[in-house]
Amino acid sequence: MGLLEGKKGIIFGVANQKSIAWAIAQKLAGEGMELAFTYAGEAFKGRVEPLAESLGSELVLPCDVTKDEEMDAVFAEVEKKWGGVDTVVHAIAFANKDELKGEYLDTSREGFALALDVSAYSLVALAKRAAPLMEGRGGSIITMTYYGSEKVVPNYNVMGVAKAALETSVRYLASDLGPRGVRINSISAGPVKTLAAMGISGFKSILKQVEEKAPLRRNITTDDVAGTALYLASDLASGVTGENIHVDSGFSVMGL
Ligand code: NAP
Repeated sequence: MGLLEGKKGIIFGVANQKSIAWAIAQKLAGEGMELAFTYAGEAFKGRVEPLAESLGSELVLPCDVTKDEEMDAVFAEVEKKWGGVDTVVHAIAFANKDELKGEYLDTSREGFALALDVSAYSLVALAKRAAPLMEGRGGSIITMTYYGSEKVVPNYNVMGVAKAALETSVRYLASDLGPRGVRINSISAGPVKTLAAMGISGFKSILKQVEEKAPLRRNITTDDVAGTALYLASDLASGVTGENIHVDSGFSVMGL
């Protein structure tokens, strides 16, 4: 029997087969979890539907996290179909490409607000809706972050600030949700070549530096991240909340 047999999860953030969320979905489904998927725009519906189908998922719903009504509709549908949910995976981030190059000093007011709204506030908005459906089930919420929240990574700019807000949100949400038996944690993944990552100027040189300097001397894979997500979704992590787990080949422990 799989670790997650009989459990239900919603995956936010599959854009294509290279998405971190897709690797997580495969891992959770492989341990018996039944999944629902969302997509952010009609353009991505055609990509997400066949992936969801390949894991036997029947729920594939639109959800742009800047739209409250779309988030409400996802949780209403999930409640109708399943009566509750055990795991929510939040693997969503966005900043305008212009903000992901050059100096942070040049960040626009609109660009700052958009990046923080989509990449950080959305976690709060999803957690608020998920919590009532998780009570009594030992729910687990998992989000994705990056080292650019802790240290300056050239060109990561406003996304680093958004990830810092996201990580701090995890701690505040852990405090709010813990008494209801709901856990929330983040995974700080090393760089992986995905659609979102390719929007960051100079991304290839980040990959090269990790390979040369990280203790494990290699870049991580989405499967590495998925293993940690499986742990956090399962009862193996029943005492873990408010944490940020680095899955980065150890890069973040190096001083020089
Ligand atoms: P990805 O495949 O491009 O996934 C990003 C997802 O965010 C896409 O599914 C995208 O949907 C979604 N999204 C953007 N704006 C949205 C909105 N308004 N509403 C709903 N969804 C929206 O890239 P990824 O690298 O797997 O990213 C997943 C998470 O991992 C992100 O939080 C990212 O910051 C984090 N992360 C990535 C790396 C890395 O190096 N790749 C490292 C550490 C952390 P659409 O494509 O449909 O717009």
